[in-house]
Amino acid sequence: MRPALRRALLALFIAVASPAQAASLLIDAHVHTMDPQRPEATALAWGDDGRLLAVGSTDELIRRYPEASRVDARGATVIPGLIDAHGHMLGLGMTHIQVALAGAHSKAEILERLKAGAARLPEGAWLVGQGWDQNLWADKQFPAAADLDAAFPDRPVYLERIDGHAIWVNSAAMKLASRPLDGDWQPEGGRIVRQGSKASGVLVDGAMGLVASAMPPLTHEQTREAYKAAFADAVAAGLTGVHDPGVSLDDFKVLQEMAAKGEIPLRLFEMADGDHAALEWLCGQGGHWVDGGGRLQMRTVKLYMDGALGSRGAALLADYSDDHGNRGILVTQPDAYRHAVEKAFRCHVQVATHAIGDRGNRMVLDTYQAVLGDAASGDHRWRVEHAQIVALDDIPRFAQLHLVASMQPTHATSDMPWAEQRLGAERLKGAYAWQRFIHEKVPLAFGSDFPVEHVNPMLGLYAAVTRQDLGGQPPGGWLPDQRVSRQEALAGFTRGAAYAAFMEHEVGMLKPGMRADFVILDGDPMTVPPRRIADLKPLSTWVDGKAVYRAEKTNAAP
Ligand SMILES: [Zn+2]
Repeated sequence: MRPALRRALLALFIAVASPAQAASLLIDAHVHTMDPQRPEATALAWGDDGRLLAVGSTDELIRRYPEASRVDARGATVIPGLIDAHGHMLGLGMTHIQVALAGAHSKAEILERLKAGAARLPEGAWLVGQGWDQNLWADKQFPAAADLDAAFPDRPVYLERIDGHAIWVNSAAMKLASRPLDGDWQPEGGRIVRQGSKASGVLVDGAMGLVASAMPPLTHEQTREAYKAAFADAVAAGLTGVHDPGVSLDDFKVLQEMAAKGEIPLRLFEMADGDHAALEWLCGQGGHWVDGGGRLQMRTVKLYMDGALGSRGAALLADYSDDHGNRGILVTQPDAYRHAVEKAFRCHVQVATHAIGDRGNRMVLDTYQAVLGDAASGDHRWRVEHAQIVALDDIPRFAQLHLVASMQPTHATSDMPWAEQRLGAERLKGAYAWQRFIHEKVPLAFGSDFPVEHVNPMLGLYAAVTRQDLGGQPPGGWLPDQRVSRQEALAGFTRGAAYAAFMEHEVGMLKPGMRADFVILDGDPMTVPPRRIADLKPLSTWVDGKAVYRAEKTNAAP
């Protein structure tokens, strides 16, 4: 065919294939598409509907879309929008309201932060803080109410541990408990820490509600403000999607309102908070609800099996190595857990269960297997959240049951200073064992568990490829055979997370037909020195082809 004719026919074909739709172009970019069929590109084109029209070279796409408006990336790196497969949106928003205690290295430092926070509160209002971690203190012992009482004799003080699985309260808060905390009784799925018969001021897992129930709930307006703050944090970190484990029906209604008003800048994949009103509502919707704009959906229930390792609430098959006689806590009793899983199965709802310890994980696997039966081989994508310490024999069962392991790379690097004391060397083989899951072909979705860990997904990518702290310790990485490649790490926060949400045809890759969700970065996570991955910053974050975040120094930010 003559070149001129060929060009004319090609032009005609393009005109027919892309009807009068205003296109936008991103040019001169270094794009990692995560699409195995075309891993690299230098330009993207998308339409008014926010879907990608083409992925290719800058010259080619300028030729094909001469009228399109252009964004010049000036050679910057572009990756698909990052998706955190496990992050608590309301919890993140609350950190803007509450006193932040993360990183405090002593009780004295915590008291300083609390006094500053209390100065902003009306008299008698609850002082709420989040993020303490006794593992960072010199004595590493659980604190007590007495540590708070001198500074706060009247005002109730309520302080959540970093993992959200224990609280530290003062005597004024304990007085408001729904049942007297002294004595020798224990609540189901929880533990009141006592000295003799006297409650010390720390309540673990199922015991937290005894005091939490006395706290005044957030108002509608406070809830909206908290969500808005969380959205801003997430998009500034390069997140275009978050799987949010555990939303109440009331809070979900607030999100529905915000979605209807176009106030949600990223994609939220919400999970109902256990066997409660949100699950009931979701069942009534046929098991799946999605808003018209594609920013908010629910098709999943988040259930809890056990507690967390830091507060020795993770359910283990054998005793804690540093606490003989203690095998952790089941947060949900097996009968109630199975009942909830069966209900979700009947309603076509995806199940996601928090399981940290090897006993907790085995009980989840056994229950999934029993309830799914023959349906185990189908496309249900039930999830295990954390899958943190798993007996080696149980890892292949994740693949056999077609489950997704939703894991958090920064949990490994946060827990590595003390995990061996809790577990001993032998059990560590199945701890944070990302590479063993990959070897068994278990789909991985990566997340952070913010606000337990920082919302910044670059810290997760860094932890996944190095298994080192930000100081580069330990040399070579902790249990280094479980590190993953940069490609695998990025897949966990893109394609893998998309798959875990049944969204792999929408997001997680940059490919024609999919959403134009991407991040422009100030460096290339595939080639910078490993330590630099943690410092990479988004220049801008795009959802449906629109910038939802731009870094302040915009002279460098396309
Ligand atoms: Zn969580």
